[in-house]
Amino acid sequence: MKKRVLISGASIAGPALAFWLSRYGFEVTVIERAPALRPGGYAVDFRGTAMCVLERMGLVDAVKEHETRTGSITMVDKNNRLEAKMPDGFTSGDLEILRSDLSKVLYEVTRHDAEYVFDDSIFEIVEDCDGVDVSFVSGANRRFDYVVGADGLHSNVRSIAFGKESDFAHPMGYYIAIYTVPDFLHLGDAGRYYVELGKRVGCFGTPNDGKAKASFYFASKGLDYDRRDVASQKKLLRDTYADVAWETQRMLEMMDDAPDFYFDSLSQVRMKSWSKGRVVLLGDAAACPTPMSGMGTSIAMVGAYVLAGELHANGGDYATAFSRYEVAMRPFVTEAQKMAEGVSWFVPQTRLKLWFSKKMWSLMPQSTMRKLMIDQPNQVASTVKLKDY
Ligand SMILES: Cc1cc2nc3c(=O)[nH]c(=O)nc-3n(C[C@H](O)[C@H](O)[C@H](O)COP(=O)(O)OP(=O)(O)OC[C@H]3O[C@@H](n4cnc5c(N)ncnc54)[C@H](O)[C@@H]3O)c2cc1C
Repeated sequence: MKKRVLISGASIAGPALAFWLSRYGFEVTVIERAPALRPGGYAVDFRGTAMCVLERMGLVDAVKEHETRTGSITMVDKNNRLEAKMPDGFTSGDLEILRSDLSKVLYEVTRHDAEYVFDDSIFEIVEDCDGVDVSFVSGANRRFDYVVGADGLHSNVRSIAFGKESDFAHPMGYYIAIYTVPDFLHLGDAGRYYVELGKRVGCFGTPNDGKAKASFYFASKGLDYDRRDVASQKKLLRDTYADVAWETQRMLEMMDDAPDFYFDSLSQVRMKSWSKGRVVLLGDAAACPTPMSGMGTSIAMVGAYVLAGELHANGGDYATAFSRYEVAMRPFVTEAQKMAEGVSWFVPQTRLKLWFSKKMWSLMPQSTMRKLMIDQPNQVASTVKLKDY
């Protein structure tokens, strides 16, 4: 009989895992709390091993159809005067796509082979020696062989099977917000950033749809807000940026018209083990490196390939499969999480560091920047060597 796998989360990690598991003959169900695929988010990039995974999936052309390829990224003062130019392609890797477009591509190629259930969530997981009984918030009850939590930083599966979020999520003391705005700065494919003490704000064009993404990164020791209450998150952002110069106030005025407001803390997930019995975590749920690492999507895509491959290769020996998946992915995750530490230079919190960071960006030779911002991430992104399963 086919092994049945329940995956919680239909963003990147979930559908990528569904792709490989269906190919290997598993019966896959993906459950997503949102009523449809969630819109919004940043441009995410493929480089190193994640690019190889995409090639093995045969999806390079499908992703290329939505390619964003951010062009020049500049740091400007409050009057839009150039302060520093980042090396071209530093955010875009070998192939860059909006998170929401990637999610759609992955969903489209898997929806006929895997069952997708939207607008529902796991309520309880009860494991016995031959499988797991899962009850859902909707009231349904079903049995599976394995449950995979691919439900992001605030993973429901992690909370149910491993313990409360605060035991594993480590806030870095920063928050991020991002939403779509008209390309009012005529950026095309370019990006522009402005910084004040503890607050960075930027906008980058997404030429595919002629729009732009307003993005905000700010430092705060800890905010008390409801993750489901978008109105209070918007108020928080408005209050935080009320006195910030540059184009900030115009961007805030456009916030209510955006269809895809996204707000979250920058928090890393660190766990001693990503599996417990028949339950295993993947992507941000297991090891969120934060958007500052630029590696969240790669961890999700490569992790999905490895986890599915190990489950396939090890037959019913899921304990060995989970352990090999973890051994293969740990070094990559560790390096990716280290990369996020650069946030303190991106959003400096002392006047001295702010001054120093501006000098550093403007005086650092392009060759050194390339090494730091392109060569080093490329190296980290190639940490995992793919096995053939
Ligand atoms: C709307 C959105 C916007 C994002 N924007 C950015 C961004 O701008 N920059 C960036 O670097 N990263 C962003 N991310 C995170 C980025 O997608 C991940 O870091 C990375 O791609 C790894 O993906 P993932 O699939 O592991 O997790 P995620 O992309 O976080 O996906 C988790 C999925 O699980 C679903 N989910 C959550 N709880 C439940 C539940 N109880 N039951 C079922 N499903 C559940 C979520 O709705 C989501 O679809 C965003 C994620 C989302 C969902």
